[in-house]
Amino acid sequence: LEPWRDPNEKPYVRIEKVTKKFGDFTAVDDVSLSIYRGEFFSLLGGSGSGKTTLLRMLAGFERPTEGRIFIDGVDMSNVPPYERPVNMMFQSYALFPHMSVEGNIAFGLHQDRVPAAEVRDRVAEALNLVQLSQFGKRKPHQLSGGQRQRVALARALVKRPKLLLLDEPLGALDKKLREQTQFELVNIQEKVGITFVVVTHDQEEAMTMSSRIAVMNRGYIAQIGTPTEIYEYPNSRFTAEFIGSVNMFHGRVLESEPDHSLIRSDEADCDLYVSHPGHLAPGTECWVAVRPEKVTISKDEPPGGDGRNRAVGVVKEIAYLGDVSIYEIELDTGKRVRVTAPMVTRRTEMPITWEDRVHLTWRPFAGSVLTN
Ligand code: ATP
Repeated sequence: LEPWRDPNEKPYVRIEKVTKKFGDFTAVDDVSLSIYRGEFFSLLGGSGSGKTTLLRMLAGFERPTEGRIFIDGVDMSNVPPYERPVNMMFQSYALFPHMSVEGNIAFGLHQDRVPAAEVRDRVAEALNLVQLSQFGKRKPHQLSGGQRQRVALARALVKRPKLLLLDEPLGALDKKLREQTQFELVNIQEKVGITFVVVTHDQEEAMTMSSRIAVMNRGYIAQIGTPTEIYEYPNSRFTAEFIGSVNMFHGRVLESEPDHSLIRSDEADCDLYVSHPGHLAPGTECWVAVRPEKVTISKDEPPGGDGRNRAVGVVKEIAYLGDVSIYEIELDTGKRVRVTAPMVTRRTEMPITWEDRVHLTWRPFAGSVLTN
C-alpha cells in the first residue's frame, strides 16, 4: 500500500475468504483483499479468471457461496444491490437509445425522486466533468464510442456512489482512444474522490490507471500490489509472464545470502547473480525473470565483470518499433533472449543487425528469483 497511507486506516471494502461456485465450477476461489477509500483498484486477469464474478458480488448481483464482503464496515451478506453505496458501469454502457444524453444521465435521479432543480444542477455538473456540456441534447447514436463511454460514466457518477464498479470501461474504444481516455478516467476519479474498482484484461491499462492491482488467475489472486511492485517484484512465474514481457531462466540455487543468490542455469550459459531479500536453500529449483529492457546489448564485449549475468548469442529477429527495437538473441544453449533497446545503442556504434554476434549483460538487481 502507498507509504503515505495511515497504517491504521480501515479498509473501505473488505473481501473475506470469498468463494463463488456455479454448480461444481469454482469461479472465484477463496479471495481475500482490502480496498481503501479513494483507491483506483483494478482486477486484472485473462478471460474466465473470475474478475467480473467478483465485481458482481461487490454490486450484490451474485451472492458468495462462502465468505463475506464488508463495505464501510457493514456486512453486505443480506444487503440488496439497490441498498448498497455502490453503482456499476457496465461494459455495454446500456444507454437508453430514445433518450437524450441529459435524459440518460438524469434517469436515476428522477427514479430517486430528486427535486427537478437539483437534477438540472447535478446533470450539468456531471456533463461538465466528462467534458460533454455541448452534447446534452443529443441522442446516443449521434455520439462517438468515446463520447458514449463518457455519458455512461456521467450517469454512474451523478448518483454520487461511494464506490463505483466499472467492467471493462474502455473495452469498446480503439487503442488510440483507449490510451487517451485512461488518463481522463484517472483525472475524473481524482476530482470526484470516489473509490473505483475496475475490471480489465489489459495489463497496460491496469498499470497506467491503478493505485493497486489484483492479478487474478483461475479464480484466485496471484498477486496484489502497486503497478511497480507487480512489474518489478513479481511473486510467481504467472504474474511475471502475465505483466509485460520477460525472459525466464530455469535453474537451481548454488548459494544464497540474505541479500542475494547465485543461481546455476544451464539455459542461460552463465551463473546468475540476483540481488533480492530473503534466503533460499541451496539446491532449490527456481526461475530467474529478467525484463527485456533491463538487458544491455552490445557488439563489443563489455570490459570487467566476473562472468555472471552475461551471455553471448546471435541476433535472430529484430522488430523496429520506432522508439525502441525488439531483438531476439539465440544463445549457444539454444535459449532465446528478448532485449528491447534503441536501434543504435551508442553514438559510435553501427546498428545491430541480423546474425550479429552480441554480448548481453544485466545487473544483479535487474532479475527476480521465483520459486513457483
Ligand atoms: P472475461 O474477461 O472473459 O469476462 P472474467 O474474468 O470476467 O472473464 P467471469 O465472468 O468472472 O470471468 O467468469 C469466471 C468463470 O465463471 C468463467 O469460466 C465463467 O464461464 C463462469 N461463470 C460466470 N458466470 C456463470 C454463471 N452464471 N453460471 C455458470 N458459470 C459462470
